[in-house]
Amino acid sequence: MQVSNSSPGPICPCTSGHLDEPCDPGGRRRLTEERHINPPSKADLVQNGLLAVLVEEDRARLAPQMTVAVLEVGHILHHAGDDVVDTWFPLGAALAAFNLDIEGGDAIDVALVGREGAVGGIVSNGSLPAYSTALVRSPGRFVRIKTTMLEQAKLESLALRHWFSRYSDCLLAQVFQIAACNATHTIRQRTARFLLGALTRTGDPAVAITQDQLAEMLGVGRTFVSRVIGEMRNSGVIESRRGRLVVKDEAGLRRQSCACAAAIDEHFKRVLSGIYPAG
Ligand SMILES: [Zn+2]
Repeated sequence: MQVSNSSPGPICPCTSGHLDEPCDPGGRRRLTEERHINPPSKADLVQNGLLAVLVEEDRARLAPQMTVAVLEVGHILHHAGDDVVDTWFPLGAALAAFNLDIEGGDAIDVALVGREGAVGGIVSNGSLPAYSTALVRSPGRFVRIKTTMLEQAKLESLALRHWFSRYSDCLLAQVFQIAACNATHTIRQRTARFLLGALTRTGDPAVAITQDQLAEMLGVGRTFVSRVIGEMRNSGVIESRRGRLVVKDEAGLRRQSCACAAAIDEHFKRVLSGIYPAG
């Protein structure tokens, strides 16, 4: 995909002045100007496990079609029901989530995607509508490629199909485990499981999420989340700062979690050996 700098397209009416599709009413759909970097460097590619393992032939085929965007928390990668036009690879500490609207107004995260994976073009195959919304949970840089281009490359490369199939299996395993976790485990355990999942994928102990967002994401009341966060803070495993929860004691947090985070980690490490972060 070639991004032209000479014809930037319409300017969104929001006050940020970005050049992209208009913001959602809440102003969430914002891109910085860095989206015009094209293509990503090799140093960018190694910040995502699936891109880091590309063989040279695949890298040469795909990299010229890629661009890099810096995305803010809440940026919508695609809405439920959208055709999956783009595939996004989080770099470094960037984090995305699949988020499902539930009858009654809640929207619950059902899976996290960090530097070990990608959003779009993995399970949906691109030509089918997305079942869930995908959004940015932790801000940062994302590599973008047109899903049709990725799908064509997968037809031509056994290595690409191999790694993306393995990632699909891991993503499904994560969804299975989180579904079971949400049905059976306490708010404290689920909160710990989410924080551990984010920490493992980003490598950053500071998780950009408010208590309101966490309550919505877990599908529970704000007062329950506030109590759990207060207890975790008092036990020294986390600190809460403005808009962030910071993991201070990972081992202590694991003791407050159910076994779900570890079960997900174990499967990812077995199936995506060398891609899934070891930490
Ligand atoms: Zn659990």
